[in-house]
Amino acid sequence: MADLQPVRGTRDLIGEEQRRHAHVIDTARRIAGLYGLEEWATPIFEETRVFARTLGDTSDVVTKEMYTFDDRGGDSITLRPENTAGVCRALISNGLTQSLPQKVFYAGPMFRYERPQKGRYRQFHQMGAELIGPAEPLADAEIIALGWQILQALGVDGDTVLELNTLGDASSRSAYREALVAYFSAHRDALSPDSRDRLERNPLRILDSKEPCDRILVQDAPVIQTVLTPEAAAFYDGLRGHLDRLRVPFRENPRIVRGLDYYNHTAFEFVTDKLGAQGTVLGGGRYDGLVAQMGGPSVPAVGWAAGVDRLAMLLDTAPAPAAPVAVIPVGGAAEEAAALDVLQALRDAGIRAEMAYRGNLKRRMERANRIDARAAVIIGETELARGVAQLKDLTTGAQSEVAVSELVARLA
Ligand code: ATP
Ligand code: MG
Repeated sequence: MADLQPVRGTRDLIGEEQRRHAHVIDTARRIAGLYGLEEWATPIFEETRVFARTLGDTSDVVTKEMYTFDDRGGDSITLRPENTAGVCRALISNGLTQSLPQKVFYAGPMFRYERPQKGRYRQFHQMGAELIGPAEPLADAEIIALGWQILQALGVDGDTVLELNTLGDASSRSAYREALVAYFSAHRDALSPDSRDRLERNPLRILDSKEPCDRILVQDAPVIQTVLTPEAAAFYDGLRGHLDRLRVPFRENPRIVRGLDYYNHTAFEFVTDKLGAQGTVLGGGRYDGLVAQMGGPSVPAVGWAAGVDRLAMLLDTAPAPAAPVAVIPVGGAAEEAAALDVLQALRDAGIRAEMAYRGNLKRRMERANRIDARAAVIIGETELARGVAQLKDLTTGAQSEVAVSELVARLA
């Protein structure tokens, strides 16, 4: 079994890397709670049809990136490439379309067969927020404000900019579709093969293409703002007003369309220039049609997903765990038993404490230094007999004798 490696595009999160991930998710979870969101955990795999039609037949995710396989029973299964479809499936499966609004937070691994590079993996991690039920632009503003507050709490707001756009309502979109077809048809030969295909099936998707030849054409493509219906324009105005009120800074970018098919009205991305080509750290929008498309009633909704791996890379530092107390018995079984009592009393009091299992005083002190202990509690034969311990402050080097019953109070 030599040379066992993680599968291409996957990686182990150990030490500081995992602490960064955990800090991103813990912070987001805490702030999502302030907005009244509750955490859901949906399965990591679903029936393929949960994703295949809903994300859009022409999306990169569905055409190229899904991990799809037949299970032993012959059912087509897909490892989730994102979690909004799973949350909507869960909403329907659990009969929650009658109990709206549902305010949902989630975090967990997602899977996409992509070319691995910095900030792009085949197993990656997303966390997300969904407000399911509200049709008002207030909900869009609140969910964006939640994203912004999380980025602020993580200290990465200085590195990120909110880019905002509207995709309009159904009739704005069909007018826009016509305008795009007219424009791109005139440049058909210059489009990438994928985008020529998109031209018939979903011209909006061309705006999201990463092919350089497409990107050049996209620069001069018509923008949706010129064909918005009055209702769609009013929705967008409402959203911008609420964002101003909530003091969430944004930059309008008419090229933001989002990669998945189910968005309408609001589309947004928080982007950074600190991560090269993998610049989007959080993206989302309104998806009023998705629940109905999955066989539920018509339920408006808005949400976002953030790339935990990318946010973890943006963090300045990972919060280090509290320095432990090292408990050091010197002698035999009786000292060790007394040390175990101290160890447990410290932990019961919420104090991080560790004990090395073997070695003499010198070796155990070395170990205490290696784990960056802030203090050592040393219990030898004479201490044991008198119900005391030597307490050594490892920052100052000061040592004093302390009654065992006083230890917790001294170290709290
Ligand atoms: P990109 O344009 O970078 O491919 P996307 O539009 O496919 O992103 P979404 O489906 O909107 O991404 O997912 C939301 C967020 O999840 C992204 O903004 C990004 O931060 C993160 N993300 C998406 N795919 C990956 C991946 N393969 N590895 C790491 N993070 C990812
Ligand atoms: Mg992608």
